[in-house]
Amino acid sequence: MGKYEKASSTYDPLLKVLVRESDTSSDRIRAKLSNHYEWCFCELCWRSTEYAISMAAPKVFKRLKRGNIKAVPLTESIRTEARKKTDTLVARYERALKGEFGKYEPPRMLGRYCDMQELRGDFSVAAFREHVERRMLVSTWARHGELLRPSALPAHPEGAARPSKLYCEVHNPRRSDEARRAYQRDRRFTLEYEDLIEKIWSQGAAVLPRWDIETWAEVRKNAYNQLQALKSPTSSMDDLLNQGITNQAEIARQLGVSRQAVSAAIKRRGRKQAMR
Ligand SMILES: [Zn+2]
Ligand SMILES: [Zn+2]
Repeated sequence: MGKYEKASSTYDPLLKVLVRESDTSSDRIRAKLSNHYEWCFCELCWRSTEYAISMAAPKVFKRLKRGNIKAVPLTESIRTEARKKTDTLVARYERALKGEFGKYEPPRMLGRYCDMQELRGDFSVAAFREHVERRMLVSTWARHGELLRPSALPAHPEGAARPSKLYCEVHNPRRSDEARRAYQRDRRFTLEYEDLIEKIWSQGAAVLPRWDIETWAEVRKNAYNQLQALKSPTSSMDDLLNQGITNQAEIARQLGVSRQAVSAAIKRRGRKQAMR
Protein backbone atom coordinates (compact mmCIF):
# COMPACT_ATOMS: atom_id res chain seq x y z
CA MET A 1 0.00 0.00 0.00
CA GLY A 2 1.27 3.43 -0.86
CA LYS A 3 2.45 5.86 1.75
CA TYR A 4 1.98 9.53 2.19
CA GLU A 5 4.52 11.94 0.74
CA LYS A 6 4.80 15.44 2.01
CA ALA A 7 4.72 17.56 -1.12
CA SER A 8 3.05 15.19 -3.55
CA SER A 9 0.93 16.57 -6.33
CA THR A 10 -2.44 15.27 -7.35
CA TYR A 11 -4.53 15.61 -10.46
CA ASP A 12 -7.40 18.01 -10.05
CA PRO A 13 -10.14 16.83 -12.40
CA LEU A 14 -11.89 20.17 -12.29
CA LEU A 15 -8.87 22.27 -13.23
CA LYS A 16 -7.42 19.41 -15.30
CA VAL A 17 -3.95 20.22 -13.99
CA LEU A 18 -1.62 18.91 -11.34
CA VAL A 19 -2.02 20.68 -8.03
CA ARG A 20 -0.07 20.58 -4.80
CA GLU A 21 -1.73 18.55 -2.07
CA SER A 22 -3.08 21.22 0.21
CA ASP A 23 -5.03 19.60 3.02
CA THR A 24 -2.16 17.65 4.56
CA SER A 25 -1.06 20.51 6.76
CA SER A 26 -3.10 19.93 9.90
CA ASP A 27 -1.33 18.18 12.77
CA ARG A 28 -4.23 15.81 13.19
CA ILE A 29 -3.97 14.56 9.63
CA ARG A 30 -0.18 14.45 9.78
CA ALA A 31 -0.30 12.31 12.94
CA LYS A 32 -2.84 10.00 11.35
CA LEU A 33 -0.88 9.58 8.14
CA SER A 34 2.32 8.77 10.03
CA ASN A 35 0.82 5.56 11.41
CA HIS A 36 1.44 2.80 8.91
CA TYR A 37 -1.96 1.18 9.36
CA GLU A 38 -4.18 3.76 10.94
CA TRP A 39 -3.98 6.14 8.01
CA CYS A 40 -6.10 3.72 5.96
CA PHE A 41 -9.09 3.74 8.29
CA CYS A 42 -12.03 6.04 8.85
CA GLU A 43 -11.91 7.63 12.31
CA LEU A 44 -15.43 6.41 13.02
CA CYS A 45 -15.53 2.89 11.61
CA TRP A 46 -13.58 0.07 9.95
CA ARG A 47 -13.94 1.25 6.36
CA SER A 48 -11.08 2.75 4.37
CA THR A 49 -10.87 6.52 4.18
CA GLU A 50 -11.81 8.03 0.85
CA TYR A 51 -8.17 9.05 0.51
CA ALA A 52 -6.88 5.50 1.02
CA ILE A 53 -9.29 4.29 -1.66
CA SER A 54 -8.19 6.95 -4.11
CA MET A 55 -4.56 5.97 -3.42
CA ALA A 56 -5.43 2.39 -4.29
CA ALA A 57 -7.09 3.42 -7.55
CA PRO A 58 -4.19 4.72 -9.62
CA LYS A 59 -4.64 6.39 -12.97
CA VAL A 60 -2.19 7.03 -15.77
CA PHE A 61 -1.81 10.46 -17.32
CA LYS A 62 0.17 12.06 -20.10
CA ARG A 63 1.77 15.44 -19.57
CA LEU A 64 0.83 18.03 -22.14
CA LYS A 65 2.22 21.52 -22.67
CA ARG A 66 1.76 24.23 -20.03
CA GLY A 67 1.47 21.70 -17.22
CA ASN A 68 -1.79 20.24 -18.48
CA ILE A 69 -2.31 16.52 -18.37
CA LYS A 70 -4.59 14.02 -20.04
CA ALA A 71 -5.83 10.65 -18.80
CA VAL A 72 -4.56 7.55 -20.62
CA PRO A 73 -7.35 4.98 -20.99
CA LEU A 74 -6.75 1.40 -19.86
CA THR A 75 -7.29 -0.30 -23.21
CA GLU A 76 -7.74 -3.94 -24.16
CA SER A 77 -4.31 -3.94 -25.83
CA ILE A 78 -2.67 -2.80 -22.57
CA ARG A 79 -4.49 -5.63 -20.78
CA THR A 80 -3.32 -8.17 -23.36
CA GLU A 81 0.25 -6.91 -23.14
CA ALA A 82 0.13 -7.21 -19.33
CA ARG A 83 -1.37 -10.70 -19.48
CA LYS A 84 1.44 -11.92 -21.77
CA LYS A 85 4.11 -10.57 -19.42
CA THR A 86 2.33 -12.18 -16.47
CA ASP A 87 2.17 -15.56 -18.22
CA THR A 88 5.91 -15.44 -18.93
CA LEU A 89 6.74 -14.63 -15.31
CA VAL A 90 4.37 -17.25 -13.91
CA ALA A 91 5.89 -19.90 -16.19
CA ARG A 92 9.33 -18.92 -14.96
CA TYR A 93 8.18 -19.08 -11.32
CA GLU A 94 6.79 -22.55 -11.91
CA ARG A 95 10.14 -23.74 -13.24
CA ALA A 96 11.93 -21.99 -10.38
CA LEU A 97 9.76 -23.83 -7.85
CA LYS A 98 10.90 -27.09 -9.45
CA GLY A 99 14.45 -26.06 -8.66
CA GLU A 100 15.52 -25.25 -12.19
CA PHE A 101 17.32 -21.99 -11.35
CA GLY A 102 18.71 -22.91 -7.95
CA LYS A 103 17.09 -22.78 -4.54
CA TYR A 104 17.32 -19.00 -4.17
CA GLU A 105 15.36 -18.14 -7.28
CA PRO A 106 11.79 -18.65 -5.93
CA PRO A 107 12.29 -16.35 -2.90
CA ARG A 108 14.12 -13.86 -5.12
CA MET A 109 11.17 -13.73 -7.53
CA LEU A 110 8.69 -13.41 -4.68
CA GLY A 111 10.71 -10.58 -3.18
CA ARG A 112 10.93 -8.81 -6.49
CA TYR A 113 7.38 -9.16 -7.80
CA CYS A 114 5.17 -9.59 -4.72
CA ASP A 115 4.43 -7.90 -1.44
CA MET A 116 5.48 -10.48 1.18
CA GLN A 117 2.99 -9.12 3.69
CA GLU A 118 0.10 -9.43 1.24
CA LEU A 119 1.08 -13.00 0.35
CA ARG A 120 0.56 -14.03 3.98
CA GLY A 121 2.68 -17.14 3.67
CA ASP A 122 1.06 -18.43 0.48
CA PHE A 123 3.88 -18.98 -2.03
CA SER A 124 1.85 -21.06 -4.48
CA VAL A 125 1.84 -20.47 -8.23
CA ALA A 126 -1.77 -19.23 -8.00
CA ALA A 127 -0.87 -16.66 -5.34
CA PHE A 128 2.14 -15.55 -7.36
CA ARG A 129 -0.04 -15.10 -10.44
CA GLU A 130 -2.65 -13.09 -8.57
CA HIS A 131 -0.08 -10.62 -7.28
CA VAL A 132 1.93 -10.35 -10.47
CA GLU A 133 -1.22 -9.86 -12.55
CA ARG A 134 -2.30 -6.79 -10.63
CA ARG A 135 1.14 -5.19 -10.58
CA MET A 136 1.86 -5.99 -14.20
CA LEU A 137 -1.34 -4.32 -15.31
CA VAL A 138 -0.52 -1.10 -13.48
CA SER A 139 3.13 -1.07 -14.55
CA THR A 140 2.29 -1.79 -18.20
CA TRP A 141 -0.36 0.91 -18.14
CA ALA A 142 2.11 3.31 -16.52
CA ARG A 143 4.56 2.77 -19.37
CA HIS A 144 2.09 4.57 -21.64
CA GLY A 145 2.23 7.71 -19.55
CA GLU A 146 2.79 8.64 -15.95
CA LEU A 147 1.18 7.01 -12.94
CA LEU A 148 -0.65 9.49 -10.75
CA ARG A 149 -3.12 9.36 -7.93
CA PRO A 150 -6.32 11.13 -8.90
CA SER A 151 -7.54 13.57 -6.29
CA ALA A 152 -11.20 12.73 -6.86
CA LEU A 153 -12.80 9.35 -6.41
CA PRO A 154 -13.77 7.79 -9.73
CA ALA A 155 -17.43 7.56 -8.69
CA HIS A 156 -17.79 11.22 -7.79
CA PRO A 157 -18.68 14.02 -10.16
CA GLU A 158 -16.11 16.68 -10.92
CA GLY A 159 -16.10 19.44 -8.35
CA ALA A 160 -17.23 17.14 -5.51
CA ALA A 161 -15.45 17.34 -2.14
CA ARG A 162 -11.87 16.04 -2.21
CA PRO A 163 -11.31 12.56 -0.80
CA SER A 164 -11.22 12.80 2.96
CA LYS A 165 -8.10 11.68 4.81
CA LEU A 166 -10.08 11.18 8.02
CA TYR A 167 -13.36 9.59 7.00
CA CYS A 168 -14.90 7.00 4.73
CA GLU A 169 -17.63 7.78 2.22
CA VAL A 170 -20.31 6.86 4.75
CA HIS A 171 -18.91 9.26 7.36
CA ASN A 172 -17.50 12.18 5.37
CA PRO A 173 -19.75 15.09 6.44
CA ARG A 174 -18.96 16.91 3.19
CA ARG A 175 -20.05 14.00 1.03
CA SER A 176 -23.85 13.95 1.49
CA ASP A 177 -26.64 14.74 3.96
CA GLU A 178 -26.84 11.10 4.91
CA ALA A 179 -23.10 10.95 5.53
CA ARG A 180 -23.30 14.09 7.66
CA ARG A 181 -25.98 12.49 9.83
CA ALA A 182 -23.89 9.34 10.26
CA TYR A 183 -20.91 11.52 11.13
CA GLN A 184 -22.85 13.48 13.75
CA ARG A 185 -24.28 10.29 15.23
CA ASP A 186 -20.97 8.40 15.54
CA ARG A 187 -18.64 11.30 16.27
CA ARG A 188 -20.03 11.61 19.81
CA PHE A 189 -18.68 8.17 20.68
CA THR A 190 -15.14 8.34 19.27
CA LEU A 191 -13.55 7.88 22.70
CA GLU A 192 -15.71 4.87 23.53
CA TYR A 193 -14.96 3.50 20.07
CA GLU A 194 -11.21 3.76 20.57
CA ASP A 195 -11.53 2.14 24.01
CA LEU A 196 -13.40 -0.81 22.52
CA ILE A 197 -10.77 -1.22 19.81
CA GLU A 198 -7.99 -1.22 22.41
CA LYS A 199 -9.91 -3.73 24.51
CA ILE A 200 -10.28 -6.17 21.63
CA TRP A 201 -6.58 -5.86 20.78
CA SER A 202 -5.47 -6.47 24.34
CA GLN A 203 -7.87 -9.37 24.87
CA GLY A 204 -6.64 -10.99 21.66
CA ALA A 205 -2.99 -10.01 22.06
CA ALA A 206 -1.86 -13.63 21.77
CA VAL A 207 -3.82 -14.47 18.63
CA LEU A 208 -4.41 -11.26 16.66
CA PRO A 209 -1.60 -10.46 14.19
CA ARG A 210 -0.79 -6.75 14.47
CA TRP A 211 1.01 -6.73 11.13
CA ASP A 212 -2.08 -7.84 9.22
CA ILE A 213 -4.18 -4.96 7.95
CA GLU A 214 -7.22 -7.19 7.47
CA THR A 215 -7.13 -7.98 11.18
CA TRP A 216 -7.11 -4.25 11.86
CA ALA A 217 -10.26 -3.93 9.79
CA GLU A 218 -11.89 -6.89 11.60
CA VAL A 219 -11.04 -5.51 15.02
CA ARG A 220 -12.44 -2.11 14.08
CA LYS A 221 -15.57 -3.70 12.65
CA ASN A 222 -16.16 -5.77 15.80
CA ALA A 223 -15.69 -2.70 17.95
CA TYR A 224 -18.08 -0.76 15.73
CA ASN A 225 -20.78 -3.43 16.05
CA GLN A 226 -20.31 -3.55 19.81
CA LEU A 227 -20.57 0.22 19.99
CA GLN A 228 -23.79 0.24 17.96
CA ALA A 229 -25.27 -2.41 20.25
CA LEU A 230 -24.16 -0.44 23.30
CA LYS A 231 -25.55 2.84 22.05
CA SER A 232 -28.88 1.52 20.86
CA PRO A 233 -29.31 -1.56 23.03
CA THR A 234 -33.08 -1.33 23.07
CA SER A 235 -33.51 -1.68 19.31
CA SER A 236 -31.14 -4.66 18.99
CA MET A 237 -32.57 -6.11 22.17
CA ASP A 238 -36.08 -5.84 20.81
CA ASP A 239 -34.99 -8.04 17.93
CA LEU A 240 -33.66 -10.67 20.31
CA LEU A 241 -36.68 -10.48 22.61
CA ASN A 242 -38.96 -10.86 19.60
CA GLN A 243 -37.03 -14.00 18.73
CA GLY A 244 -37.98 -15.28 22.17
CA ILE A 245 -34.54 -14.84 23.76
CA THR A 246 -35.13 -13.50 27.27
CA ASN A 247 -32.04 -14.65 29.16
CA GLN A 248 -30.00 -11.53 29.98
CA ALA A 249 -26.67 -13.32 29.86
CA GLU A 250 -27.55 -14.75 26.45
CA ILE A 251 -28.59 -11.32 25.16
CA ALA A 252 -25.35 -9.84 26.50
CA ARG A 253 -23.34 -12.54 24.75
CA GLN A 254 -25.12 -12.04 21.43
CA LEU A 255 -24.78 -8.27 21.51
CA GLY A 256 -21.18 -8.44 22.71
CA VAL A 257 -21.90 -6.19 25.72
CA SER A 258 -21.85 -6.69 29.49
CA ARG A 259 -24.78 -8.23 31.35
CA GLN A 260 -25.08 -5.04 33.41
CA ALA A 261 -25.55 -3.02 30.21
CA VAL A 262 -28.36 -5.34 29.16
CA SER A 263 -30.01 -5.15 32.56
CA ALA A 264 -29.83 -1.34 32.50
CA ALA A 265 -31.24 -1.27 28.98
CA ILE A 266 -34.14 -3.52 29.98
CA LYS A 267 -34.96 -1.14 32.83
CA ARG A 268 -34.87 1.84 30.45
CA ARG A 269 -37.07 -0.06 28.05
CA GLY A 270 -39.58 -0.85 30.79
CA ARG A 271 -39.73 2.80 31.80
CA LYS A 272 -40.27 3.88 28.19
CA GLN A 273 -43.09 1.37 27.75
CA ALA A 274 -44.71 2.45 31.02
CA MET A 275 -44.80 6.03 29.75
CA ARG A 276 -46.81 5.11 26.66
ZN1 LIG B 1 1.70 -0.49 3.74
ZN1 LIG C 1 -16.55 5.51 8.44
